Amino acid sequence: SSAAREKGIAYYKPAKDPYSPERLTQVTDLKHALHEGELALWYQPKLSLRDGRMVGVEALIRWPGRQPAIRADQLIQLAEQSGLIRPITRWVMEQALAARALLLEAGLDLTVSINISPNNLREKDFPLFVQRLMTSHHQHRGRLILEVTETSMMQDPANSMRTLRSLDYAGIPLAIDDFGSGYSSLSYIKQLPACEVKIDRSLITDLRTHPDDRIIVKTTIDMCHSLGYQVVAEGVEDEETIELLREMGCDMIQGYVLARPQPLGDLIRQLTDQQTD
Ligand code: C2E
Ligand code: CA
Ligand code: CA
Ligand code: CA
Repeated sequence: SSAAREKGIAYYKPAKDPYSPERLTQVTDLKHALHEGELALWYQPKLSLRDGRMVGVEALIRWPGRQPAIRADQLIQLAEQSGLIRPITRWVMEQALAARALLLEAGLDLTVSINISPNNLREKDFPLFVQRLMTSHHQHRGRLILEVTETSMMQDPANSMRTLRSLDYAGIPLAIDDFGSGYSSLSYIKQLPACEVKIDRSLITDLRTHPDDRIIVKTTIDMCHSLGYQVVAEGVEDEETIELLREMGCDMIQGYVLARPQPLGDLIRQLTDQQTD
């Protein structure tokens, strides 16, 4: 991005040819990073506008030591294209459950949301894996939320839907991520066994200045409520936007206005400081 270039940070460029030596090195490095514990999860809080409390955190993947730096979405793309997304998502889930235990220890009973790739939805044993993991961590159902995008359904709708139904049946809450970006399909959202819809940042960014976006967001919130979903606005960066969303009846917000994604220890410190303020 231009901001990164200004700061003089070199960013990773994906190799164009997936079979180039450069690309194979990137994949080998990522595999090494996973096995050597070089990957990290950072966490961003989610606030309820109903009672002004923090209700959850979203886990976002990071590769801190990596030079040149690599963005989370590109890391995930590399993992998807090289078959590493399966072990990475499993690692993410283990980490997220450990994080949930640490939060509880700090007196913070928050949900932990993790992002699931479309590839994971096509793994036949995925729901079983999630259930076993929950059992082995003695976790309360309903406190680990899986986020999936609508577009992740498109590649293989029948199998993806079967996976989501199994997860739902097992009591695992699902969230529809990036809603309103790309081609939203109203027929899918109606069928999805989700509890939460996250409105994409692209619709939230210009809420203050674009009346059209306000109409779209308000209509989306009303529609989601009618269908029984809770609504989260993503990418909220200022107080004025919080106020607009509150007036529209939005349930929860996430964004830099609250906190940037950060290591768990830092977030726990920030949240427990706020409690004692
Ligand atoms: P996402 O799931 O939509 O995550 C939200 C992204 O928006 C994050 O970018 C977050 O840092 C950023 N963000 C949050 N609040 C604000 C804000 O107020 N302003 C702006 N400009 N940005 C904000 P990040 O961490 O770079 O992740 C990008 C994408 O990579 C994620 O989008 C998700 O699709 C994917 N991703 C990240 N971690 C994982 C993971 O563990 N597994 C999978 N499958 N995908 C992941
Ligand atoms: Ca997400
Ligand atoms: Ca999102
Ligand atoms: Ca996204």
